[in-house]
Amino acid sequence: MGYDYLIIGSGLFGATFAYLAKQAGKRCLVVEKRLHLGGNVYCENVEGINVHQYGAHIFHTSNKDVWDFVNHFVEFNRYTNCPVAKYKGRLYNLPFNMNTFYQMWGVTTPEAALAKIEEQRAIAKAEDEPRNLEEQALSLVGKDIYEALIKGYTEKQWGRPCTELPAFIIRRLPLRFVFDNNYFNDTYQGIPIGGYNKLIGGLLEGVETRVNTVFFAHRDELSSLAGTIVYTGPIDEFYGYCFGQLQYRTVRFEQEVMNVPNFQGNAVVNYTDAEVPYTRIIEHKHFECFGQRVYELPKTVVSCEYSMEWKPGMEPYYPVNDDRNSALYQQYLALAKQQPSIIFGGRLAEYKYYDMAPILEKVIEMEP
Ligand code: FAD
Ligand code: UDP
Repeated sequence: MGYDYLIIGSGLFGATFAYLAKQAGKRCLVVEKRLHLGGNVYCENVEGINVHQYGAHIFHTSNKDVWDFVNHFVEFNRYTNCPVAKYKGRLYNLPFNMNTFYQMWGVTTPEAALAKIEEQRAIAKAEDEPRNLEEQALSLVGKDIYEALIKGYTEKQWGRPCTELPAFIIRRLPLRFVFDNNYFNDTYQGIPIGGYNKLIGGLLEGVETRVNTVFFAHRDELSSLAGTIVYTGPIDEFYGYCFGQLQYRTVRFEQEVMNVPNFQGNAVVNYTDAEVPYTRIIEHKHFECFGQRVYELPKTVVSCEYSMEWKPGMEPYYPVNDDRNSALYQQYLALAKQQPSIIFGGRLAEYKYYDMAPILEKVIEMEP
């Protein structure tokens, strides 16, 4: 056995694990089925712009250890995510804050906004103990905001009615009665200067890696190389879908280079109408160019995101954590628990809607 760890997948989980294991004197081999390292945070440089190939990634955390950890590899800029929602031709600030309430109802004080939401909750007969995403949204923000900014977007994003989705999804978004368009409540936020590849490059420096290598095509040979396997791919695939397939949402990115310096004036614009087929348009240069610097590059790159149900051969992105899938995942987890020499970690192997920072937190806690 040549290695202590065989790490399957070079996303943030696998790369961080490899880095910490190496620091601890362990030998690691990382195998990655894609042609490049980095998993979903991978960026490609197009026209001088770092394009987030697998969807926009904004790093945010309140954990100083995690923030110091990533800043050790690459400096982060001052990007603050302030997405804008477009509904029936009008723009609204996100997350739900005093700007949104003013745009929606013309209210100018927190007291008036709260009164409006209470009135809306009463009309919708909002439940105190929401059983699904719709009930949760109505109870948080009332009917008008739910119908304009949540229902259409969420049903496109998840391909299911809001009444069949778990309430926790919408609790990801802050609700605040101050004029503050910062999408996150965390203390630290930003984008690595020069893109995420620098972070991945730093984590994997000096680690042996093999790209274009599908673990299942060389399962026996690769497994025999290490004492412990760290698996970050889909858990159902690992077990040959023996209990059936877990459901995921995937995204088709339609990327376009435009001959204008500034297309939409913001990195993220969400389209919350049900009739518009895409969920959002990302304009990548705004993650790293601010103010007049936007105009220093003559072109811009945009990605239009179409959300769809995952099928074999597509990239699984979002686990669908409804009751049926959660029960199915528990069956796979029970199998995994019988194999303590295999570590299952990350968004796909744990079938969990993880952001980047909690992934790092988890690996750091594991002390590989
Ligand atoms: P991944 O990055 O998916 O890495 C898994 C790797 O394993 C992949 O490279 C895959 O190719 C490889 N692999 C799988 N199976 C095999 C196999 N059989 N053989 C070899 N290799 C294999 N988080 C944030 O904090 N902020 C954001 O703004 C944000 N935006 C997001 C937007 C989108 C569209 C998505 C999908 C996620 C977003 N996230 C965001 C979440 C973030 O991407 C994840 O938390 C993080 O990247 C997960 O890392 P991971 O290592 O678990 O998985
Ligand atoms: N959401 C919404 N309207 C928006 C943006 C988000 O209703 O304009 C809901 C939607 O259900 C989404 C959830 O909030 O799945 C979480 O949004 P987030 O931006 O965190 O999603 P992600 O970045 O993971 O795609």
